[in-house]
Amino acid sequence: MSAANTVNFQYWNKKMETLPRAELEAWQLDKLREAVGFALRTPFYRERLAAAGITDAGGIKTLADLKRIPFTAKNDLRDGFPYGFLSIPRDEVIRLHASSGTTGTPTTIYFSREDIARWTSFVARCIYGTGCTQRDVFQNMITYGLFTGGLGFHAGGEEVGMLVIPSGAGNTSRQFRLMQDFSVTVVHATPSFLLHLEAKMREEGVRREDLSLKRAFAGAEPYSEDTRRRIEGLLNIDVYNSYGLSEMNGPGVAFECQCKNGLHIWEDGYIAEIVNPDTLENVPDGETGELVLTCLCREATPILRYRTRDLSAFYTEPCPCGRTHRRLHRIKGRSDDMLIINGVNVFPSQIEEVIMGIKEVGNNYLIVVEKEGALDRLTVKTEVGPDIFMDDSRPLNALKERIRKTLQASVTINPRVELHESGSLPVSEGKAVRVRDMRKKDV
Ligand code: ADP
Ligand code: ZN
Repeated sequence: MSAANTVNFQYWNKKMETLPRAELEAWQLDKLREAVGFALRTPFYRERLAAAGITDAGGIKTLADLKRIPFTAKNDLRDGFPYGFLSIPRDEVIRLHASSGTTGTPTTIYFSREDIARWTSFVARCIYGTGCTQRDVFQNMITYGLFTGGLGFHAGGEEVGMLVIPSGAGNTSRQFRLMQDFSVTVVHATPSFLLHLEAKMREEGVRREDLSLKRAFAGAEPYSEDTRRRIEGLLNIDVYNSYGLSEMNGPGVAFECQCKNGLHIWEDGYIAEIVNPDTLENVPDGETGELVLTCLCREATPILRYRTRDLSAFYTEPCPCGRTHRRLHRIKGRSDDMLIINGVNVFPSQIEEVIMGIKEVGNNYLIVVEKEGALDRLTVKTEVGPDIFMDDSRPLNALKERIRKTLQASVTINPRVELHESGSLPVSEGKAVRVRDMRKKDV
């Protein structure tokens, strides 16, 4: 999109968002020293950093010293449960959040009052940067509670001055009613919930023209560009990609601006590196690797060089919006999402990209992997669009064959394809569960 010519970019904090790189890096160095100072108050980092020869914050002389800091993994955070990473007196903590536990035991993050204020202003920056103003009415259709997406976006929306409706996730009829009653202009949800919502519109007799929707923020799980386009087309709105993780506060880490081409990572709050997950060396800009993040904006729970396991790459070009903070490519998935099927590596996101690009395919799908004798068998179950009749087998078989062939060409595996009626595959309230790997015992 030629956003540069058509959009009046708006900045929540123009000075910080367009800070020249040299000043941004000086800011980062300052904040990194502070973060190391806080980290040294925790038993975990005291030991880790001492082993790396860092015993006081003054040991960080330049940004290059970041490389001397050891990585932190999810397991380290789990081992430190519950208070091992707390770096201020507990009386000064005003809130805790936990990760949603997609990949195991949740981890806990603590916030001081200033931490919450800083986090909130990053979320406000993201929201405002998409063109929202205090005239907008914002329905936050995501899980509240320990998950950061609910309260994080809630506070950011209020900071911008929007009217915020804390609807939470699920219950499509109620969501539609709220949208209509209060002329909602912006929503936040997982991409899978937005697709589900659209599929439900017909059932509930809601027409697009009954809604005042203009924008959606979609995140918390990976989705492809095709899915974004599909949601935008079906609902006639702009969809902005929102990336965050509880270890780095939650939402507000990286977000698309009005150019909708890559997510600006707020480098005054986070240091981003992309490393080769095997060698742990930084990869050249533009190459895909694992995102490693250092939190510069939280005193209560410092986390340095956190291995997110999320795969991404930096854009090498500056963004037409004028922000100096680098952009990340849409997250391809987590390194531990990768399926190995008869020796071939496949990311669920590759499968999604193919099926969401086929217009007769409906809005929901499920990937099942199981053992068949000695071999792995991949089955892709997808819903069909509402205009396809399940009792007419000829076009159904042709569609099935087309999906199978396109998938085979893209992922080099011959999958079994099953077509299901619109609305018949399971929908989850939080992050979508798209893969059932029956080869694992606990599934
Ligand atoms: P959990 O690890 O338990 O899911 P969180 O609730 O903190 O914990 O979720 C953070 C994770 O969600 C990220 O590390 C990433 O894998 C995923 N995620 C969040 N936003 C996006 C996005 N826009 N695109 C892809 N993945 C995302
Ligand atoms: Zn931009």
